[in-house]
Amino acid sequence: MKLVTPILIALVAIATSASAYAATARGPICQTSARVGSTTYYSCNGGYHGALDMSNGTCNSWNHRGMILGSRYYRYYGGCGQSCRATSCNGGAGNYVVVTGGSGWQFRQLHIGANASSKSKTCDRCALGLVSSTGQSYGAHVHADNRRYGTRMTAWYTSAGTTCGRSAYCGNVVGRPTL
Ligand SMILES: [Zn+2]
Repeated sequence: MKLVTPILIALVAIATSASAYAATARGPICQTSARVGSTTYYSCNGGYHGALDMSNGTCNSWNHRGMILGSRYYRYYGGCGQSCRATSCNGGAGNYVVVTGGSGWQFRQLHIGANASSKSKTCDRCALGLVSSTGQSYGAHVHADNRRYGTRMTAWYTSAGTTCGRSAYCGNVVGRPTL
């Protein structure tokens, strides 16, 4: 009988980890000039970042699209309007969306410029707002991270071969986040 509890714990652990799986993330901007500007480090050689920053060099001109391939629920956190300059709104995240997976996993997209598309919804890579700079953002861009219990992970984009300068066009796979 003493073995029952450890076996049960092991079974629960297997079931929990099985609920998270590798999704596919494509670039958030449907313009071929869109590029990855930060990965593990800010601006590719600054301080630790642990996320993708992607830009096409414009502000409030282009759609910021959901990145996860397939229909997902994007929960929207707004209230920051549109801005092409850094603000402290929402703790620096600006307007943002969260896709929630199992076992503490999340996929987030930050710094959205709010427009009529900016609301919680279930969709497949739909427009979430504009490529903007709401929150602690220097230069309009899309920030995407895959976190587990709040810790940013990097394997989701390094395993897909994403490095600085790579295309962030909406037809290109930039990562395989766990959800
Ligand atoms: Zn970022």
